[in-house]
Amino acid sequence: MSAAPGPAQVAEKFAAAFGQAPDGVWSAPGRVNLIGEHTDYNDGFVLPFAIDRTAQVAIRLRADNTARLLSGYGHQGVVSLEMATLSPETMKGWTAYPLGVVWVLRQMGVDIGGFDLYLDSTVPTGAGLSSSAAIECAVASAFNELCGAGLTANQLVLVGQRAENEVVGAPTGILDQSASLLATGGHAVFLDCRTQESRLVPLDLAAAGLLVLVVDTKVTHAHATGGYAARRASCELGAEVLGVAALRDVAAADLAVAAGLLDAQTFRRVRHVVTEDQRVLDTVAVLADAGPAAIGALLTASHASMRDDFDISCDELDLAVETALANGALGARMTGGGFGGSAIALIPAAEEPRVRAAVVRAFADAGFTAPDIFAVSPAPGARRVL
Ligand code: ADP
Ligand code: MG
Repeated sequence: MSAAPGPAQVAEKFAAAFGQAPDGVWSAPGRVNLIGEHTDYNDGFVLPFAIDRTAQVAIRLRADNTARLLSGYGHQGVVSLEMATLSPETMKGWTAYPLGVVWVLRQMGVDIGGFDLYLDSTVPTGAGLSSSAAIECAVASAFNELCGAGLTANQLVLVGQRAENEVVGAPTGILDQSASLLATGGHAVFLDCRTQESRLVPLDLAAAGLLVLVVDTKVTHAHATGGYAARRASCELGAEVLGVAALRDVAAADLAVAAGLLDAQTFRRVRHVVTEDQRVLDTVAVLADAGPAAIGALLTASHASMRDDFDISCDELDLAVETALANGALGARMTGGGFGGSAIALIPAAEEPRVRAAVVRAFADAGFTAPDIFAVSPAPGARRVL
């Protein structure tokens, strides 16, 4: 992972590609979900924080109706198209993320003509840290300002989600975009996905002598085609059979009854979501009462639920979690949609070298691809940077 370029460097790369300075540069972060997995599309609770890995976009509006897009990430050169041809069917590859946002904004009546766009991101792709939402939120913030659309942050969240759902084809909830747009440094975002109400929760890891270590297993997921959609369908089935609008409406005390109404697999899916919602609420309460050092057991219980009930972990994620816990982590869990991606470990800062070395060794011993391991801290959300 290369060091993050400053906004001036991003503007220079834009100018080198397109021959003129951009109108501005906007930045939006990836995220780590501290706890609350697969609860967002069940109208439940999540607790992500934005990380100090960002997508930056430099954009210049054009007088004609041509769009030109370039990513610094080794994608295949400049993509050029006429705005009149823009539709979900014609958007392919990485440009579906920025163009999907443009398409949604145009559907909403925002007057976007041609533009040049250069993207530079330090959010690893497909690692469960939401490189996709980082792009969407940076692009949505940019056009909101450049075109004077006047949309609120909560509205931009829904723009990003629609792009992901309707253009990319990944049936994801509002977790990722909310974290990327609503976060502030030193805080997590406690979000009620039914009402879209959010509250910033202090998460000063450094003051507590802690850090969150991300272990990117390099096992890539594919949400659009993978098990994510199947899990979502199981949750919808569970809600339908139980006669509720969403699994948010099932209380932990109702699970015994639910067990008698659902097939065994659907019941386990439901139990994960119901208990995970409660763990998010418990984590928020424990953070307020006792601080971040006290939330470890909740994180680890969340991992067990995803591994055993929701079946979205994998050997690499389980090994990362177990190894971190055996080497001083207070808690650990996979984060993100699952089937690969990253695990997070909450560790005393002094234990970082030990946990890193142990995880690297365990992966080598198991014959797994070497993981990428890095610390993250709660960072600010989307904003204009130049
Ligand atoms: P995640 O959001 O967990 O990282 P996704 O599969 O949702 O994974 O999104 C990853 C996709 O986002 C990539 O396959 C690519 O299309 C796009 N993407 C992410 N970062 C970049 C980048 N720097 N340049 C171009 N496309 C990117
Ligand atoms: Mg994504």
